[in-house]
Amino acid sequence: MLIEKYDLEVFTPPCEPGAERFSAIARLVTDIREVFPYLNATLRGAVYNANVPALRWTKAGHYITFQPYQIAVSNVVDRDAAIKEVEGLVKLVNRTWERRGEIKPDYEAHRRPTPMEVYKLLPGTNCKQCGQPTCFTFALKLAAGQVRLEECLPLFAPQYTDRLAQLQAIVIEAPAIG
Ligand code: SF4
Repeated sequence: MLIEKYDLEVFTPPCEPGAERFSAIARLVTDIREVFPYLNATLRGAVYNANVPALRWTKAGHYITFQPYQIAVSNVVDRDAAIKEVEGLVKLVNRTWERRGEIKPDYEAHRRPTPMEVYKLLPGTNCKQCGQPTCFTFALKLAAGQVRLEECLPLFAPQYTDRLAQLQAIVIEAPAIG
């Protein structure tokens, strides 16, 4: 097990006095940086910066940052949910570390594409087959890692082969864990 113990802090961010959102930090005694490439390979939409090192991830509107000695989450609706989220992230790190033999680590510093970069490569027909009202809405969600390329069926038609390849190169499509 990579993380065996940690101290937990829950607070309302000082820059937002009276805000109804909570942040929580798990302060670790173990350096967890070695798990970052495995999380980078498996968390959809994660943004890894090996130079810091840090890995950012957004899950259900929560902003999450993994650093060598801490895991932080912000924008959580209440104190209990913040605690639960951090506990879940600790489990995620331990589970990923235990599975590392099955995962090809990804050391690339992915940059999340902008919605406009994504939009320009979509068919642009607003056909709604993806369940979104417009291609731009789909682009917004795809850039944020909230939908998958496979949900845009028209993109898999032969005339879009080149665009599909470009999108596959810039959109992080790894399956989400947990
Ligand atoms: S299925 Fe594709 S082409 Fe149709 S609206 Fe969605 S993103 Fe646009």
